[in-house]
Formats: sequence, C-alpha cells, structure tokens
Amino acid sequence: MFKANGYAAQQANVPLEPFAIERRDLFPNDILIDILYCGVCHSDLHTARNEWHSTIYPCVPGHEIVGRIAKVGNAVENFKVGQLAAVGCLVDSCRKCEECKNHLEQYCDKFVMTYNSIDPHSKKVTHGGYSTQIVVDEKFVLNIPKEFAEKDLPGVAPLLCAGITTYSPLKHWKITKGSRVGVVGLGGLGHMAIKLAHAMGANVTLFTSSPGKSVDAKRLGADEVVISKNTEEMQKHANSLDFILNTVAASHNLDPFVALLKRDGVMCLVGAPEHSHPSPNVKNLIFKRRTIAGSLIGGLKETQEMLDFCAKHHITSDVEIIPIQKINEAYERMLKSDVKYRFVIDIASLK
Ligand SMILES: [Zn+2]
Ligand SMILES: [Zn+2]
Repeated sequence: MFKANGYAAQQANVPLEPFAIERRDLFPNDILIDILYCGVCHSDLHTARNEWHSTIYPCVPGHEIVGRIAKVGNAVENFKVGQLAAVGCLVDSCRKCEECKNHLEQYCDKFVMTYNSIDPHSKKVTHGGYSTQIVVDEKFVLNIPKEFAEKDLPGVAPLLCAGITTYSPLKHWKITKGSRVGVVGLGGLGHMAIKLAHAMGANVTLFTSSPGKSVDAKRLGADEVVISKNTEEMQKHANSLDFILNTVAASHNLDPFVALLKRDGVMCLVGAPEHSHPSPNVKNLIFKRRTIAGSLIGGLKETQEMLDFCAKHHITSDVEIIPIQKINEAYERMLKSDVKYRFVIDIASLK
C-alpha cells in the first residue's frame, strides 16, 4: 500500500475535504497513473451526497481521468512509463461472462466501478480520480491518441464518461450521414451528443427548455433548436426524427418527445432520474412501432474507438478548469446548470 492525496466526502451532508487515499501496490498487470486532470460528472455529486442510497464513505469521486503513466507492473505489455493514459467509469469486470466476452463490460453484473465499488484485489472500496494517483489493471486503461495536444487534455477528460455515454447509443442505433437526430437537454452530456452526432454526419436538433441556449447549441453543431415548452413548435417536428438521445436526468413527461419520432424511431434515455418519469402513453409507441430504450456508458473497446473518433474529428469537451479546493462550489454551480459544460479539476492543485 502507498498513500495518494485526494479529496473525499466523509458523509452525505458535509463538503468534500482533503483525504489520504491508500492505493494498492502494483500487481503484474497494474499501471500506476499520475493524474493530471479529472472531470466532474453529475454522478460524482449524486454519489458524494448518497442520493442513490449506495455510497460507502469515505467517498472519493471522479471517473473522467487523464494522466501520465508513472510505473507499470512486470507483465504489462501495451503501455510504457511516460505515456499519457486515461481511465473511465470502470476499473474491472468478471472477464468471463457473455457481456465481457463481447466487449460490453459495462453490462457485466460484476463490473467494478472506478469509485464506490469493492476492489476484488484489496476488498476495500475503490477511490476515484479526485486524487494524485490511481492504480488500474492495464485492461481498463485507455490510450490517449497522439493527435491530442497537451493543451487539449482537460477537454479530453470528460470524454471518458460524458463522451462515451453519448457515443455508444449513437453507434448502437447506427447514426450516420443524413440521420435525423434529436438531442434533449444541453448540459455535460447534451453538448457532447451534439458534437458527436454532428461529426457522424447527422442533422441535429436540440430540444431545450431554455431559450438562451440557442446560439451556443448552433456553435456546437446543432442545425436547429426547438424550445420544448412551445407546444406549437414541438408539433411542427412531429414524426420527423430517426433517433432521440434524451440526456435529461430530472423526471419529466416523455410523451411530447416520443411524438417527434418517425415510424420505428427510438428514443434512448441516458440520464438516471432520482424519481421515475411518469409512465409514457403506450398508444404513442404502438401506432408507429416506436421504442423507448436506455444505454449505459460503453465497453473498453468502444471507449477507445470513441477517443480515436474524437481525435480524428478534433472533438473535446468544453470545460472550465478548477482547482480541487473549488469542488464544493462547483457542485453548487452544477445544480444551477451554471457550467459550460463540464468542470475539470487540475490535479496539480492537490500536490
Ligand atoms: Zn459520469
Ligand atoms: Zn462479466
């Protein structure tokens, strides 16, 4: 064991504060990463405050990690000391089940999350990227493509959760040139969904409740912006979309969005609301054979594919860099959607 500096929530209702993390010594397949940047995801806040009722304290959040490899175990083959590397939401899985064999580790029943899971090696709770260092099995470490410059790295960090969460469903439902895609909500996930769908060649419409977001949405790649509270405007877009990526995590009526889908259209939900959405109108689904679906992050292979895609298309997240000392303030601002569009912690502030 060795100590790394970190920031932890000790309980649900107290601010995060400095905390010394015990990291495991390296197994032969392990990689030690000196963390440079860590994105701040809404899941971090939900978990730190025990809003999903499953938090093990002390809790060190963070699953959008970018850093430099400081040490490798003696069986590591694909990574070298000094190389840039990334870690996302998962640090292990069973590696034997049907999902794992199909590169869908995110659907393995025994996956190990980057924080708030039990580490099968040490039997202790995993601690995330609000930390100077992390130890991860090489199978769960990603390569940062060479096309990304040093200055891009803060904007690369959120790709590890916000990026893959939106990329995976766009690929699964075969979004391509000419697809008509709707994105609901313009936050951390929504802004990535617009950039990615646009880069895939889709015609993208953003649906938002805030009229003030129109100019920014178009800058990000949206072809059109619709104010979802405006019934008339919504009706004009009925039966027009192949696919909707709904990124809103607050409980809301799904029916007006389902009505936007063409026959056989799919609306995929990627936000996990604390309280369920009202039950959707079934007739809306039956009459046009529409689908409401869900999707969770992505497997390791697909996450690498997403990073390579983003490098090729010069896509990074729009970020505001903060020192770790501002994390509690950042959480309060996130609750007011006062961030464009992701906070990223400069881990140099922890040293
Ligand atoms: Zn996340
Ligand atoms: Zn598995």
